Amino acid sequence: MAGPVDLQEYRGARRRLVETLQSQGIRDLSVLHAIDEVPRHLFVPTGVRHRAYEDSALPIGNGQTISQPSIHARYLELLKLTGKERILEIGTGSGYQTALLSRLASQVFSIERIAPLLEKAREVLQQMGANNISFMLGDGTLGWSQFAPFDAILVGAAAPEIPKAYIEQLAENGRLLIPLGDRDEQVLHLFTRHGGELEREDIAPVRFVPLVGKHSWPS
Ligand code: SAH
Repeated sequence: MAGPVDLQEYRGARRRLVETLQSQGIRDLSVLHAIDEVPRHLFVPTGVRHRAYEDSALPIGNGQTISQPSIHARYLELLKLTGKERILEIGTGSGYQTALLSRLASQVFSIERIAPLLEKAREVLQQMGANNISFMLGDGTLGWSQFAPFDAILVGAAAPEIPKAYIEQLAENGRLLIPLGDRDEQVLHLFTRHGGELEREDIAPVRFVPLVGKHSWPS
């Protein structure tokens, strides 16, 4: 059995990362506080652990990557979470963003299609004592209708268009963050649901790994 998480480890490196994010314009104190407290080094493979607090994406195995911390910070800041939300996350990946969400929202529902990634993420999050996360192994392009509606849906992989389940499963005034474009380049979009309409904001050009599934690209 793994022991409890030692939060003193890498504390200085984590603090410097928070300062870097502040200098890049991240202002939301609850987001900065979550980044200061979540041990990102536990979510990356041991071979790249020394780089865990650089502002860069890193390989996590199975051809996937953990996103850059500044991307996570930006994503979370855009959602303006109050702590009461129910969130659907597509693409658990390393589980790092899941850990941040579990501190910033009330309940997190996270779907991943690659079993070894999901198992590793689940193990680390359990070790951290996170108890408001439900996981599912499967195709996240279908959403998770059993627990809908969601106050926010975060898609951590890029799609050609919005899978329609996300629109159906979004609560009134709910927010959907999704990179849309082609396989190489995308734009991060923030959609807010008002009745049957989606208000759209274009946030920034981004590069994500592809969302693979029934309502996105084939594998
Ligand atoms: N936020 C994560 C991002 C990981 S990369 C992190 O920083 O660690 C995106 C993840 O989406 C990958 O793990 C990939 O396997 C997963 N993914 C891609 N298509 C998916 C789908 N249809 N359903 C669930 N997960 C998917």
